[in-house]
Amino acid sequence: VGCNSTSTDVEEITDTSKEKVSIQVTSSFESGNIGTVESNGDSAWDFYLRNDNNNASLPKTWRNWWYAKVQKRDSSSAGTESLFDLDITWTNRGWPFYYLPVYSYDQKTWTRFQEQDVSLETPSKDLRVVRKGSNAFTQHTVWLARFYPYTFTDLEAYAQTIQSSPYVSISVAGKTQQQRNIYQWKITNPSIADSNKTGVILHARTHPAETTGSFLVEGLVQYWLSEEGQNDLDRFVFYVFPMHNVDGVVAGNYRTTPKSENLENMWYRSPQNPINLTEQAPQEVQVLRDAFVHILEQQKVTIALNLHGSNSDTQIGTFFFPHFGTSSQGYAESEAKLWDDQIRFIETLRQEATDFPIEPNPSEGTGSFATKYFPESWWWTNYKDTVMALTLENTYVKSGKGGRWILPEDLRELGGHLGRAIKEYHEPPNASKRGLHSAPLNSDGGAEFEKRKAAYLGVYPPALEGEGKE
Ligand SMILES: [Zn+2]
Repeated sequence: VGCNSTSTDVEEITDTSKEKVSIQVTSSFESGNIGTVESNGDSAWDFYLRNDNNNASLPKTWRNWWYAKVQKRDSSSAGTESLFDLDITWTNRGWPFYYLPVYSYDQKTWTRFQEQDVSLETPSKDLRVVRKGSNAFTQHTVWLARFYPYTFTDLEAYAQTIQSSPYVSISVAGKTQQQRNIYQWKITNPSIADSNKTGVILHARTHPAETTGSFLVEGLVQYWLSEEGQNDLDRFVFYVFPMHNVDGVVAGNYRTTPKSENLENMWYRSPQNPINLTEQAPQEVQVLRDAFVHILEQQKVTIALNLHGSNSDTQIGTFFFPHFGTSSQGYAESEAKLWDDQIRFIETLRQEATDFPIEPNPSEGTGSFATKYFPESWWWTNYKDTVMALTLENTYVKSGKGGRWILPEDLRELGGHLGRAIKEYHEPPNASKRGLHSAPLNSDGGAEFEKRKAAYLGVYPPALEGEGKE
């Protein structure tokens, strides 16, 4: 169910030339995605990326996720070759930068390719991976993916490992358009009344292939259930919506639902009352909105985090999209308050996660989001500066611990830091262990940000199709 089987899903390369090896490529499994495959010489193939749902009207820049099973098909010397030579070029890509994909022999243990195995072709910007000879694959079936996969099945398996905790309560917030569960995890100390605690809301995987958010969530939960983090559960109720666009995840999409909807900017507010959404808002958005409102009817909420992953140049770390700016830049009091809170939150995380690259802040975030249809637009319209709603973008590159190519374990560790930052953000000024409340925020006035922007002209922070965020 849910696998978008199409004629291009399975591509068999037969021996029409003098090539010794043929392969079979398929993406007919959960989160799988590949376009067509063409032979390109001895043990060499071109893999074409395709659009979500094979929808040619979607922007090229949305063509980024791929996940395929590649099997060696021996012809004359069946089974005698112990190694599997592969020279694959990914073409038709929506993003021009270099990155290191991952591979697995069992879909469980994933390994990053080495930099010496991966090159960026010029001028095509195609990505090429060569593993031949003594460096060939050691098994005849290998799964290749753009980044560490994290499927709906993975999510449900992880939920099994935490559901027996007395602090965890798992429920179904609603159904997707294809009738899958949109889960809600409530994590708190149930022996203390929720009305005496502060609510914090997080959601992830609105964009299906942005699996960074899932590893971050695992790290957060691990922190909250640890001896250290359990203290926070007396004061906070954490509401986690770990996978928003479940149908898109199952279908193997990068960005959209099976109907090619980008749920990120479809929080269509009702003109009559902007707390409500119009009929045009997809079901998954309505489910999240209803769950948020239900929470807000019961208790105070101070933070709403929207977890994403972003394509980027190899050197770009975790970043955010803070909105508005300072009062001296002309912003109204509540706008400047939201800006200050967002910057204070980012700086708190930066001081917790000292081993991780986190991008500098801009001097100003502008107010353009407010009239659009992002979750943050809905939050701002209805709750102003009382809820610090913010998008966090992890990247897939050298944004891991110490600047290494980021690993799932790095994202989990960063999740723990995020948990500490959430607690620290709520400390009264004189109790703040880092003294952040008295420190000048953004003291460089965005200078470092401007330097980065100049170094990555047009792609910093990575932005798509004028939306301003991924
Ligand atoms: Zn995204």
